[in-house]
Amino acid sequence: MHQRTVPCQYFAPQKIEEALEILSQYGKEIKVIAGGTDLLIQYYDRLYEVGSWLDLKNIEELKDIRINKNQMEIGAMVTHTKLEKSEDIKKYFPVLSQAAADIGSPQIRNRGTIGGNIVNASPAGDLLAPLMAYDAQFRLLSIQGEKIVPAEEFFIGPKKTILEPTQLLSRIILPLPSEKTYGCWIKIGKRKALIIATITLALVVEMAEDNKTVKDVRTCLGSVAPTPIEIKEIREKMIGKKFNQLDFNQLGQIVEDKISPIDDIRGTREYRKDVAKEIMINALEEIGAACGGGINE
Ligand SMILES: Cc1cc2nc3c(=O)[nH]c(=O)nc-3n(C[C@H](O)[C@H](O)[C@H](O)COP(=O)(O)OP(=O)(O)OC[C@H]3O[C@@H](n4cnc5c(N)ncnc54)[C@H](O)[C@@H]3O)c2cc1C
Repeated sequence: MHQRTVPCQYFAPQKIEEALEILSQYGKEIKVIAGGTDLLIQYYDRLYEVGSWLDLKNIEELKDIRINKNQMEIGAMVTHTKLEKSEDIKKYFPVLSQAAADIGSPQIRNRGTIGGNIVNASPAGDLLAPLMAYDAQFRLLSIQGEKIVPAEEFFIGPKKTILEPTQLLSRIILPLPSEKTYGCWIKIGKRKALIIATITLALVVEMAEDNKTVKDVRTCLGSVAPTPIEIKEIREKMIGKKFNQLDFNQLGQIVEDKISPIDDIRGTREYRKDVAKEIMINALEEIGAACGGGINE
């Protein structure tokens, strides 16, 4: 049994600097709590012991969404409700806004935070694929200073990240996309509400000036691997091509071939592979319709 070396305490500082001091003092002996919607369930299930608590609820600077030059910065304590309702997020990052709207129930969305979803690092975390698709970076802070890490380097396994016990996730940084960027979010689960995803897809396509040629693309999936993944092979098949000349079926097949999901209670490997192809085709059709570059144009 793990031996506690410091007395159990509860901290709810108002400043990040204080939180970082506490973290550096307590390290593994303290648990950071945001909305508690993942943490408290794991704690009540006694998945681990908690020595002391560091509650982030009073740190106002972690709760804002702001545009800073050509970047969107989202505080780690921004709730799913705030993310879903933010006009700026809807405008620039609709896939993220829609994914936030699909999380749990209103109660969960009012408490759960983007930071908690990221650090919990569930393969089924709904925001993870959209964040990768928008090329997110995470700002990690400790008393030693800051570290900016791309989303794809942050997740290293199911519920495993590179975050150290003395570090705090403070902000999520997203480059503002060009005006001709289109996105599609698809979440498949066993029912419509309050459901953990069987598979998710966040497809983000940036068009060139002509609004017809693909300039960049990100095809990111959740719940098909230990971490959210990008199917990079899609890039070489799409970039530089006219959208209305793409073979959607072939692109769907690439997604199906490149993922190796597992069987679990939410779906079999075969089911996930079949569905991955279908949702890729649906997402391409939706983007085609949105940019006027559909196959029937
Ligand atoms: C009924 C129910 C339904 C749900 N439905 C969904 C769903 O549909 N989709 C989905 O993706 N999730 C779902 N969840 C999971 C959960 O609500 C989300 O993952 C939520 O975003 C977690 O955020 P939180 O603020 O509650 O995190 P917490 O539970 O407070 O923390 C989660 C983890 O992150 C760490 N942490 C939090 N913030 C920071 C930070 N800033 N720096 C460092 N570490 C930090 C904590 O120490 C902990 O390890 C559901 C949960 C419940 C109970």
